[in-house]
Amino acid sequence: MEQFDVAIIGAGPAGMTAAIYAARADMKVLMLDKLAPGGQIINTNEIQNYPGVGTINGAELAYQMFEHTQQFESITFDYGTVREIREEEGKKIICCEEDDREFAATAVILATGTRPRCLEIPGEDNFRGNGISWCAICDGAQYRDRDVVVIGGGNSAVEESIFLAGIVKSLTVVTMFDLTADPIACDKLRAMPNVKVYPYQDILDFTGEEKLTGVHFKSTETGEEHTVSCDGVFEYIGLIPTTEFMKSLGVLNQMGYVEVDARMTTKVPGFFGAGDCVTKNLRQVITACADGAIAAQEAAHYVESLR
Ligand SMILES: Cc1cc2nc3c(=O)[nH]c(=O)nc-3n(C[C@H](O)[C@H](O)[C@H](O)COP(=O)(O)OP(=O)(O)OC[C@H]3O[C@@H](n4cnc5c(N)ncnc54)[C@H](O)[C@@H]3O)c2cc1C
Repeated sequence: MEQFDVAIIGAGPAGMTAAIYAARADMKVLMLDKLAPGGQIINTNEIQNYPGVGTINGAELAYQMFEHTQQFESITFDYGTVREIREEEGKKIICCEEDDREFAATAVILATGTRPRCLEIPGEDNFRGNGISWCAICDGAQYRDRDVVVIGGGNSAVEESIFLAGIVKSLTVVTMFDLTADPIACDKLRAMPNVKVYPYQDILDFTGEEKLTGVHFKSTETGEEHTVSCDGVFEYIGLIPTTEFMKSLGVLNQMGYVEVDARMTTKVPGFFGAGDCVTKNLRQVITACADGAIAAQEAAHYVESLR
């Protein structure tokens, strides 16, 4: 079984940055991903908030990050869907679904990201990434002066709605319960002139043939149905951390996120977290990269301490 100093699970921005920093700290590094390296930014049309690059296509930024990792001979990238990590004689044994392959490492950085919770209703698959988005910071500008619906009523939904309402012509917030975010934020949103809120609704389906045209929903109180016309929809009904295989490690909080401190260390020695899968407030490329850098440095200290 091949042995590494540091194994990084997930080759998104967090994992790739961790790989670069670990290699520069003289570590032998394994970077595993179940898909092509790049993570969520591969499917992001434009990234406009990563300093120094202006506007860049997400796949292009992912490619540049991966190219950077490949400048280090000590980084091995491999495809592998990690299904289990167990401890054996002071080593972490990483087991992949494909051909039951196993790797050993002294330290592991968990950087597996999140995925958006979806409504799973008719029409959603047709307009995914083409009318329906999960990131207002990323895609909101496309809907300047247009009609938009936000689905959800929690903190993310309300904060992103306030942001969107400043850009779009009309913003309709449709939520399964009432707005449950911070009351000051809810009041601010309700006071915005172009915002209408429909609480206590069941979202039934998205309408449109080639193009999204609206959202159809039904009141859970009165049974009344509405279809609101719109050009775009943003869904904020929560994120799901991609951490299922980590349950037995003792590193997750109740919500399934990797619980880390400011040094990206978990409470289990030798396990570090980075990027969207850890407990944090702002899930963006730049924060993922920053986490990756910190996690790699701490992982390298851990490996050195055992030598
Ligand atoms: C539509 C959209 C647009 C966005 N636009 C922007 C933007 O404009 N600017 C910005 O800063 N941020 C943007 N973001 C957020 C940004 O993409 C994320 O914050 C960032 O990608 C997080 O990086 P990460 O490395 O933590 O996780 P991810 O990018 O999610 O990468 C995690 C990686 O782990 C892999 N993985 C998961 N489970 C396993 C497993 N069991 N075994 C092996 N590999 C596994 C995945 O395949 C994936 O490649 C956007 C997000 C979305 C969804």
